[in-house]
Amino acid sequence: MLKTNRLQHEKTQTAKGKAGLYLHLPFCHSKCTYCGFVTGSYQADLAGRYLAALETEIRHFPPRNVAVVEGRLQVDTVYFGGGTPSILEAAQISNLLKVCRECFSLTPDAEITIEVNPGDTAPERVAAWKAAGMNRASLGVQSFFDHHLQAAGRDHTAAQAREAFQALRQGGFENLSIDLIAGLPRQTLAEWESNLEQALGLEPEHVSLYLLEVKEGTKLAQMVATGRLPVPDEDLGAEMYEVMLNRLEQAGFDAYEISNFARHRALRARHNLKYWTETPFYGFGVGAHSYDGEERYWNTSLIHEYLEQIETTGQAIAERTARSAHEKFHEALMMGLRLRDGISLDSFHQRYGIDLRERYQSELERLAEAETIEIIDDTLCLTRKGVLLSNEVFLSFME
Ligand code: SF4
Repeated sequence: MLKTNRLQHEKTQTAKGKAGLYLHLPFCHSKCTYCGFVTGSYQADLAGRYLAALETEIRHFPPRNVAVVEGRLQVDTVYFGGGTPSILEAAQISNLLKVCRECFSLTPDAEITIEVNPGDTAPERVAAWKAAGMNRASLGVQSFFDHHLQAAGRDHTAAQAREAFQALRQGGFENLSIDLIAGLPRQTLAEWESNLEQALGLEPEHVSLYLLEVKEGTKLAQMVATGRLPVPDEDLGAEMYEVMLNRLEQAGFDAYEISNFARHRALRARHNLKYWTETPFYGFGVGAHSYDGEERYWNTSLIHEYLEQIETTGQAIAERTARSAHEKFHEALMMGLRLRDGISLDSFHQRYGIDLRERYQSELERLAEAETIEIIDDTLCLTRKGVLLSNEVFLSFME
């Protein structure tokens, strides 16, 4: 068993680079109408118990019945997500990072990101994050229009978002990302264009786009079902996406993934890239997902179940997937196509035993003719037109 585990660690380190850690903090000031994440209102007692459980889970890594683990796993990204990690006391976040440093070998240049809600950026808090070693912040701006923020149930104003950005900058964060949502109810194209201009005006290093989805069980779904809000207009959403792609590229951004834009290559989100390149990552906390290079597994998404299981056994895994060879290659294909760098056909063949040129010969010919994909030397990738029609392109590879 020990041998298996050591092999697993070796595989993890060599398969596709070093691993990443994700810590889920499931507390928010209030629930946004569109939110389908595992998160709830902040309660100090519950948060205290949760943080203790999270520490236990990290210290219990790896979550297998293994008596000894040799060496510490090398990690080059840590991501504090949620929920709203910035709602917690800075000392609580710092302690979690300290525990990660004790249990894993963090590289000196590790990318350490915290998701931040505008309104949580008092100077002493920002300074404490920086002192703890955070070097990247992802700010949930979503919109620069107060009526959209209110309608979406966000607990901050556009002015607070601008102030928060400046507070992070002044606090020493040199790598800042802004999240924007396109397709908010009754959002116009002109408002979306204004959002982009205002975001660019802040000079972020990175921008992430989310196209509003109506997720089952959310307040938004209820409002749409009862006719209080219109069904999101997919064509308008696509138009907003195209406008964004044009504007950010014009501003010199690297559209390195369908929804993610970096000021230049070195500022791509290293942690998120692990999700798209089949690189191992380990998630801690309620509902957190992990991928160890072979299997995907995830924790229970019920907080009380998570707490009880961690407190009794140190782990709270709800399910593991033993993916078939077909599922593995298919997932890698779909994720690889999302990236501007595309897929190296030879590396893909070596890793998954599938020659994509052979397997999808007719589809590739048809898509190349439609100018939605291209193969340059050994690399298969979407063209610009293909990025705009990505859902249709992906459907061609569903078999
Ligand atoms: S802040 Fe984020 S995680 Fe929290 S409710 Fe809103 S969308 Fe969900």
